[in-house]
Amino acid sequence: MKKIIIVGGVAGGASAAARLRRLSEEDQIILFEKDEYISFANCGLPYYLGGVIQDHDRLLVQTVEGMSKRFALDIRNFSEVIKVDPQAKTLQVYDHRNQTTYEEDFDVIILSPGAKPLVPPFAGLQEATNWFTLRNIPDTDAIYAFMQTHQPKHATVVGGGFIGVEMAENLREKGLEVTLVEKMPQVLAPLDFEMAQLVHEELQLSGVKLRLNAGVDHFEQAGSQVVLDDGSRFETDMIILAIGVRPTTDLGKDTFALGPRGHFLVNNRLQLFTPNNEVLEHCYAIGDAIEVVDFVNQAKTAIPLAWPANRQGRIVADIINGDAITYEGTLGSSVLKVFDLTIATTGNNERTLKQKGIPYVALHAHRGNHAGYYPNAKNIALKILYHPDTKRILGAQGVGGEGTEKRIDVIATAIKLHASIESLSSLELCYAPPFSSAKDPVNILGYIAENLIQNRYRMFYAHEVDTLAQNKAFFLDVRTPIEFSTGHLPNAINIEVDALRERLAELPQERNTPIYVNCQVGQRAYLAIQILRSHGYQNLYNLSGGYTTYRASQFVSA
Ligand code: FAD
Repeated sequence: MKKIIIVGGVAGGASAAARLRRLSEEDQIILFEKDEYISFANCGLPYYLGGVIQDHDRLLVQTVEGMSKRFALDIRNFSEVIKVDPQAKTLQVYDHRNQTTYEEDFDVIILSPGAKPLVPPFAGLQEATNWFTLRNIPDTDAIYAFMQTHQPKHATVVGGGFIGVEMAENLREKGLEVTLVEKMPQVLAPLDFEMAQLVHEELQLSGVKLRLNAGVDHFEQAGSQVVLDDGSRFETDMIILAIGVRPTTDLGKDTFALGPRGHFLVNNRLQLFTPNNEVLEHCYAIGDAIEVVDFVNQAKTAIPLAWPANRQGRIVADIINGDAITYEGTLGSSVLKVFDLTIATTGNNERTLKQKGIPYVALHAHRGNHAGYYPNAKNIALKILYHPDTKRILGAQGVGGEGTEKRIDVIATAIKLHASIESLSSLELCYAPPFSSAKDPVNILGYIAENLIQNRYRMFYAHEVDTLAQNKAFFLDVRTPIEFSTGHLPNAINIEVDALRERLAELPQERNTPIYVNCQVGQRAYLAIQILRSHGYQNLYNLSGGYTTYRASQFVSA
């Protein structure tokens, strides 16, 4: 029989506790949670505030009583572990109810203390009484109570990450005017810029005022004035700080090795190290508090998401019970809803691959989420990245209607199974008109990649258009004149694909001249390129994602 201590009773900690008990009826399991609630639905909190989830109790996935009974656990809430001595195998617990400190011993310890919101020392924040962060149920209750009592008309959300964007949506759904302030040029960092532009448009169309490239400088008048670092200022009634999180690792900062941003360092068996880098066989850490290996680029990173925390919670229990399993790294698959859009990502984006010096090919596609003739088909904008030599898929992003995350999930599966980009063409996926097309958008990505790999054409990208235009590139737009009249690339000439065979004389006659072809999404351009190839043109480029991706990339938030 082992005495196992778990620190932190939500995603990682609760998963570990349940799995440990399923694997052994013998072990003594004590779970310490510093707050009142265990196993609550962090991910549901914004939706409670937006009124989508109406019943507060629905946020409590498990209660202390319920979980203690079902899994025969000794759960101690309001109990904060303040120090761990891995050599003596003891820890100090501060009981918030009695305000006393006591010691416990253990054979094995699992730390899952999570991460807490960053709160920069903005001038004027201390005097403000209208600012909040969102991590747990008390935070949620405080925001809810403030909204009930103060009836705010305007909210400022600082930070355009997942929680910031979800809060912006939910506060807007509650009828507030919302300004979202983000220091970077885009929201949602896992997306590349041109994909994030689709989200910017959706946020703006839904009434969220976006202030990109603008950080908060300070607050004035007890938080009712927000002053940005570009000198602009506006009035607000409440402030949500969603700037990011930092790991809650203070309890082990002197006893365990920490990474550059304060995360616990662990090996692939989730075991902690001493500050001298000796493995502590009986000490484990999981969840938002640890550094993980990026599954794609194998570098150390931190990915605070629920899937890794739950997965690690399960396998740490398996490891403790003698399984030879290891944690193979985190892909960072994620999804969120922004009004009518679904946004999903997996693996590395273009920005990360550039930073890491990893070669890649990017391609975009736009496809209906189901058959166009079946009512309410919505577009899905997809971007995929693969290695030009190994053809291994490196990452994907999707922004669109229902079913967007299904496509990214398929690609996430392919990445985990080390599939090549070409193999996406041969995936036999479910099809009926309400759900997809006989060629699923994922298959289409494979087909486009095959064309590139077989050198049928090369890609050019929205971000290259300005430079190409300056160099007097020949842009050929093969859409209809009506589509062309709604907007086109600079100085493009318009020859509709169906008229191309008859109007070849209007093209440069030198067959080596590069011709940059575009249509709305890339499909008609591909056909046009095939026609041009058969007439001897050799230097042909297709605009990745077509005019749709180009137009999105040009969106200017007001
Ligand atoms: P947590 O679940 O945060 O649990 C840590 C617990 O440890 C806390 O309850 C804390 O009080 C306790 N603790 C800390 N220190 C001590 C101590 N010294 N002693 C005792 N107890 C301690 N992820 C997604 O994948 N999808 C989503 O849609 C999503 N939405 C989110 C929305 C919100 C508002 C938030 C806050 C998070 C969201 N996340 C989402 C992230 C996800 O909830 C976390 O990645 C996950 O909960 C991490 O699990 P964890 O066990 O590491 O930490």
